[in-house]
Amino acid sequence: MEHVVGARIHQLRTIDPGEIRLVQLALPEEMEIAGKRYTIRDTMRPGTAFLAKPWGDRTGKYRRRMYTRSNTSFNQPRLLETFINHTHRDQSDTSSWWQSAMAIDWFEKEKTVEVRLQLDEEAGDAWVYENTKVCKSTNLRLEDNGIWEGMRIVCVAFGTGITPFLSYARYFKANNFGRKGAKAGAHLTLVASVRHEGQLMLHEELVALEQQFPQHFRYQPVLTRSWPTAWGYLKGRILHVVNYGSGNEQIDISPFQTIVPDIAQAHLRICGNVTACRQLTLGLERNGLVPLTVRAESW
Ligand SMILES: Cc1cc2nc3c(=O)[nH]c(=O)nc-3n(C[C@H](O)[C@H](O)[C@H](O)COP(=O)(O)OP(=O)(O)OC[C@H]3O[C@@H](n4cnc5c(N)ncnc54)[C@H](O)[C@@H]3O)c2cc1C
Repeated sequence: MEHVVGARIHQLRTIDPGEIRLVQLALPEEMEIAGKRYTIRDTMRPGTAFLAKPWGDRTGKYRRRMYTRSNTSFNQPRLLETFINHTHRDQSDTSSWWQSAMAIDWFEKEKTVEVRLQLDEEAGDAWVYENTKVCKSTNLRLEDNGIWEGMRIVCVAFGTGITPFLSYARYFKANNFGRKGAKAGAHLTLVASVRHEGQLMLHEELVALEQQFPQHFRYQPVLTRSWPTAWGYLKGRILHVVNYGSGNEQIDISPFQTIVPDIAQAHLRICGNVTACRQLTLGLERNGLVPLTVRAESW
């Protein structure tokens, strides 16, 4: 049996109208099931997703959907933050609801959205469910403590695919990027590609993080469709694809190589839509560029 708790919509902020919203769901400290009280515990690992049951505006029902957490349980326990985009697929259901006036109305009325928990009956604990407990090439759960501190990681995010990497960046910051004694600590490069300036997520926070930890963090936002005249970062797609039909495509990854010339010495992590993730990995492969490890998640 699946256990859930109602989480209050704590924040619903429009990033790009009709396209992207920041969502925060606040869980209570305790809950009761069949007369028994459980303490709600949150140890979600950066890079994992929680399961919520938002409203589907196409089907008119509550639906189960996963959302990658963009903050960390480490410093914000029981406050689940994510960024949700409208997929514009024919089947779009909950992704369009999150952008709606009805969602704003729920937020203003302090309504709740159910979030999945896992019970430990003996201990009387209810743990926030996370989608994976192990690191695999097809997920972005952060490596265990003791491992990530020695890694040089390049994260490439397409749109809301930035969510797992925001969690990494905040976790690394909270842990001083793993710098301890003689240990140099981790290095994180975040390439965040969005269509226009209004779609950037937590831009100011990331700029400030780069200024605070210049030896450990590099932030490279990319605007693909339009940019302000004074835009000081990258412009245009990080890979150019020419389609010759019947699945035959030429992938030019030179813009990506300009940003990250030494990907072979780094661990590559990719998140976003299926096509962009596939084109980047294929482009690297065809150019004989083999990162130390590659892990990618697409929705
Ligand atoms: C691990 C993970 C992390 C994610 N993180 C984010 C995130 O951070 N931000 C974000 O915007 N999105 C994220 N997503 C995608 C998100 O869960 C939704 O799929 C997306 O928002 C689109 O939702 P939708 O309801 O509009 O359409 P869809 O989820 O594409 O659903 C479309 C249709 O498929 C059906 N369907 C979908 N899933 C199932 C299923 N499991 N079983 C049966 N029918 C199904 C639906 O009923 C509907 O008819 C993540 C997905 C996964 C798997």
